[in-house]
Amino acid sequence: MKGLRKIAPYVAGAQPQEKNIIKINTNENAFAPSPRVIKALSDFDANNLRRYSSLTNDDLRDALAKNLGVSRDQLIIGNGSDDILALAFLSFFNSDAPILFPDVTYGFYKVWAELFRIPFTEVDLSDDFEIVTSDYIGRDNGGIVLTNPNAPTGIHKTLDEVEKIVAANQDMVVIIDEAYINFGGESALPLLKKYENIFITRTFSKDAALAGLRVGYGIGSPKLMAVLNAVKNSYNPYSVDMVAERLALAATEDVAYYAQVNHEIAETRDWFSDELRALGFDVLPSQTNFILTKPAGISAADLFAFLQSKKIYVRYFGGTTRLSDYLRISIGTQDEMAKVVQVIGDVF
Ligand SMILES: *Cc1c(COP(=O)(O)O)cnc(C)c1O
Repeated sequence: MKGLRKIAPYVAGAQPQEKNIIKINTNENAFAPSPRVIKALSDFDANNLRRYSSLTNDDLRDALAKNLGVSRDQLIIGNGSDDILALAFLSFFNSDAPILFPDVTYGFYKVWAELFRIPFTEVDLSDDFEIVTSDYIGRDNGGIVLTNPNAPTGIHKTLDEVEKIVAANQDMVVIIDEAYINFGGESALPLLKKYENIFITRTFSKDAALAGLRVGYGIGSPKLMAVLNAVKNSYNPYSVDMVAERLALAATEDVAYYAQVNHEIAETRDWFSDELRALGFDVLPSQTNFILTKPAGISAADLFAFLQSKKIYVRYFGGTTRLSDYLRISIGTQDEMAKVVQVIGDVF
């Protein structure tokens, strides 16, 4: 047949269905969603589903605006932040110059660039996996995409450094993907007051323990929002279903619960990192709910297989890139991570 699209898709982490496994391969939250989310689900009146969901998600935008200290018209809600990011690529990256993003970052950026036929350049991280600020300054580009803290490195870039990049590229949109910002690091939110060219994305999947709900959002200037909304309404106007909006609202209203569980995850992360370092592993300094580590005394591929034989699922990217020596391990509960430390200890 003629005209069929060929594309190499994003490869997500496995979702094994076995019981009694430790699943720390896709950066899902270690804890259950807020009790308010569970109550909102049982209170939901299914009769309402006869209607279409909200086009503008005003209730959820108002609640987020209040928490974030921005205005409602600086927010857009989507079907996961992947939806918002894809919309942003379509909306903002229409120049002939290549967009820039790191060679080691969220794997989906390259896939969207190819899908939407956007020229792109992958910019190498430094040898210690840092984003080099000067690489994004004084360089012709059609836009910039950074994850901060970066994934899968976990490394955070300071607000000052992010501002240098945003300030030096005011003719282009700079997307800052803050999927992990509630586990550590400084948000770029304060830059919204000074710059119109910054667009921040967030998700309920990681810090709100709602990966299966599929809700994410973007924050930016009204100027950018107008473009995004026009593209959204040319494509899939009712992208957030009614149940999802209601439950995401309940999560947004329970700041205290999430502050508590995410603080625990950060503590477990730091404990787990130190345990691995004590075994001689190289562990990158993480501000997220996962760590990237290079094992000592065993290859990443062998440790991955060994852990899987013990029903512990971590992420191995394989291939021939710099990541082939590393494993990405999401942070589960303290009990789960203690078990992982014990199992890894048995290798030696
Ligand atoms: C998980 C993740 C996303 C996607 O989040 P969803 O809201 O589940 O679509 C986007 N960016 C990064 C860096 C992520 O890790």
